[in-house]
Amino acid sequence: MVEEVKLKRTLKEYFGYDSFRPQQENIIRSVFEGNDNLVIMPTGGGKSICFQLPALLLPGITIVISPLIALMKDQVDGLTANGIPAAFLNSSQQEKEQQEIFRKIELNEIKLLYVAPESLQYIDAVFSAGNISLIAIDEAHCISSWGHDFRPAYTQLGYLKNRHPQTPMIALTATADKATRQDICDQLNIPYATHHISSFDRKNLSLDVRPGNKKFEQILVFLKGRRGESGIIYCLSRKNTEELAAKLKAKGYEAEAYHAGLSHSDRISIQENFINDKLEIICATIAFGMGIDKSNVRWVIHYNMPKNLEGYYQEIGRAGRDGLPSSTLLFHSYADVVQLQKFAEGSGNAEVQLAKLERMKQYSEALTCRRRILLSYFGEIIPRDCGNCDVCKNPPEFFDGTILAQKALSTIYRLREQEPISMVIDVLRGAQNAQVLEKGFQNLKTYGISQDVSWRDWQQYMIQLINQGYVEIAFHDQNKLKLTSLAKNVLFDHQKVLLAEVTQAEIKKSPVVAEKASENTLFERLRQLRLELAREEGIPAYLIFNDATL
Ligand code: ADP
Ligand code: MG
Repeated sequence: MVEEVKLKRTLKEYFGYDSFRPQQENIIRSVFEGNDNLVIMPTGGGKSICFQLPALLLPGITIVISPLIALMKDQVDGLTANGIPAAFLNSSQQEKEQQEIFRKIELNEIKLLYVAPESLQYIDAVFSAGNISLIAIDEAHCISSWGHDFRPAYTQLGYLKNRHPQTPMIALTATADKATRQDICDQLNIPYATHHISSFDRKNLSLDVRPGNKKFEQILVFLKGRRGESGIIYCLSRKNTEELAAKLKAKGYEAEAYHAGLSHSDRISIQENFINDKLEIICATIAFGMGIDKSNVRWVIHYNMPKNLEGYYQEIGRAGRDGLPSSTLLFHSYADVVQLQKFAEGSGNAEVQLAKLERMKQYSEALTCRRRILLSYFGEIIPRDCGNCDVCKNPPEFFDGTILAQKALSTIYRLREQEPISMVIDVLRGAQNAQVLEKGFQNLKTYGISQDVSWRDWQQYMIQLINQGYVEIAFHDQNKLKLTSLAKNVLFDHQKVLLAEVTQAEIKKSPVVAEKASENTLFERLRQLRLELAREEGIPAYLIFNDATL
């Protein structure tokens, strides 16, 4: 067992910190106990120390699998500068360089060895050359096609545990949804891993969502009084990043575009200028940020909608790592949603991607505390509304929705938690369509119990119930609605549920876009509904065919 004093001393000596952050010490202890570990901690939470510090104290080498070759050198340089013997192996190196590293491995002169998943062919040689104490899989969500950044090369990592069952493994990621967590452990063959799940609440980040019209004008207003602060604007396309950077430059801001189409040297120099506060604003695609360690990013804007909440949370998480108040702003637009739907439909995993996008959209349209929604998505329930999001600061009207909630929850219960949102609403409203009748749902006790509430309003209430944590969507099981433990309090103990008045909702005021018919019935239905409702209310609504740009 390692003594506390020794851990603290190492932390101070090599990393310069006086104390551990929550969880770090527990995780490190568990590593020393020889367990496999799964670490879920938000971006900026301090995952690296959980394997870097043990690496220093363990007798042999710690192998770190890390996805980004481009960042490996920086990481290793950073460690070496702190006096930590580290090296990396990847395909960009000359043979001579690699031989030198192997020599050091044999002499046990290296403590941390970074390896790209594409370079797994070296692993066996490393194992036979050196004494391996620990395998760390950084950004472990890349192994799961359910995660938001799947990398095929990661799928080969399952073999490590089969081949070297005695070597403890630590897998780390900021992606926390339950299904992805399980998938990571399955694929890495670490069924008995100890799970360490940190709070995802980043209280210092304010959350703000606004309709995405006149975005550039809104950005200029946002930037007033923020001269000299560092910020990132995330865009969906390379073209957007360049246009936006040019427009900002024309207004006198120091801004640069950053995307995977730039040369390596350009990217490095932009990153460095940004990190050294020589560049205020980076207009980037999501290619920017993974592994970038800059503590004083004061704001993050999403010029376009991200494709899911994991990505969104990770990106806004790059702001305020120093713990100081920082702002985030998301522009919500149906044109983006339409485009993202197309991407999702064309992906290998359309059903899951579409469901995740739907949650992203629900977040943007939320009428309840946004932080609750975000955190409940990651399986965390906070005791009260956050007070630091736009909904909390400017709340809609609430009413006692306990009876409505009870009707919905008991319908989900009677449907044995086997149906998606649309069927639950159909049953509540007593719909006579073929699907309802075929399944015999007209005989359920709650059939037609709430015809007085329109389909659209029900949809909003259901989303609120999901967002407030009473109901979960089983993405990996046909989007069936499931009751959470909170639901029982409402059903059996009559716990009061507050719902936001939807007829006042801002949603009704924004222009609505719907897309051409597609195979996907749930989304198709929502689109049609939006279009119809918008037109009924005299709101300009558009049908978009092939071109999603408005
Ligand atoms: P993650 O990999 O979880 O995104 P990092 O390991 O890159 O996070 O750490 C994020 C930042 O937090 C870094 O600047 C790191 O030096 C700092 N950090 C980590 N642990 C501590 C600690 N115990 N005390 C102070 N700062 C810390
Ligand atoms: Mg990290």
